[in-house]
Amino acid sequence: MQITHYGVRGSIPAPGHDTVDFGGNTTCVEVVTSKGQRLIIDCGTGIRKLGLNLLKEKEVPEIPIFVTHVHWDHIQGLPFFLPIYMSRFKIRFLGAKESFGRLYSTLYDQMDGYVFPAKLQEVQSNINYQVVEDDEGFNLGEMHCDIIRNNHPVPTYGVKIHDGGKTFCFLTDNELMIDKPQTEYKKFVDFCSGADLLIHDAQYTEDDMKRTRGWGHSTFLEVIKLAEDAGVKSLGFHHHDPERSDRQLEQVIGEMKANTKIHIFGAREGEKLEV
Ligand SMILES: [Zn+2]
Ligand SMILES: [Zn+2]
Repeated sequence: MQITHYGVRGSIPAPGHDTVDFGGNTTCVEVVTSKGQRLIIDCGTGIRKLGLNLLKEKEVPEIPIFVTHVHWDHIQGLPFFLPIYMSRFKIRFLGAKESFGRLYSTLYDQMDGYVFPAKLQEVQSNINYQVVEDDEGFNLGEMHCDIIRNNHPVPTYGVKIHDGGKTFCFLTDNELMIDKPQTEYKKFVDFCSGADLLIHDAQYTEDDMKRTRGWGHSTFLEVIKLAEDAGVKSLGFHHHDPERSDRQLEQVIGEMKANTKIHIFGAREGEKLEV
């Protein structure tokens, strides 16, 4: 399967000369399985460019978009995702049962004709919605995807995509080592067990975490521990702090390489990964 990052920044877009290497757009990932089935995860500002690419394709089958949660940085790009305005596109939003009511209302509220000039209920594309049960996950053509409840201030979900013998786990906005977790650490280890690629939120350093514990994000070292405990083959850090420059991010990741034998890297906007 092929994974393309369209947005890797956390919390708020952070464009500028000192973030241009890793990228300033917020979360949006495109997965295309070996059978050609596409899944989009999240509608952060990165989805704008993905939409422009989709306009160049002739026949696009229904586009499933799994929304991990409705914090701004994960939905704010939707009004600029041009396929929603075109009748030739069919879009399916998927959200976990616990977050579904707010997902639906928040997508409409951010396009109500007042805070944004176009109304979601008047767009031309064919939009459907699918509730995903925690213990059932969902299917992507012949592929299966599992979900897991993250530790975050609002209901938020991680996704695991099985494609043949390969697995890709994407967990953003997840605090692994929180005091009273929604989901115990061991369950994340089981969920990610043996994954070929794990992309996980690593917004903070240990130093940052002295003031950000409880905000719903993890540190680089915590995520490395998860990857090691789960026997993950490759680990990408995601949801980069908007204040962290390219130079600082390179430095932190460089230092982290001394802490593990696992292949680690920082997710970069525009980068395509093969699993
Ligand atoms: Zn976020
Ligand atoms: Zn969040």
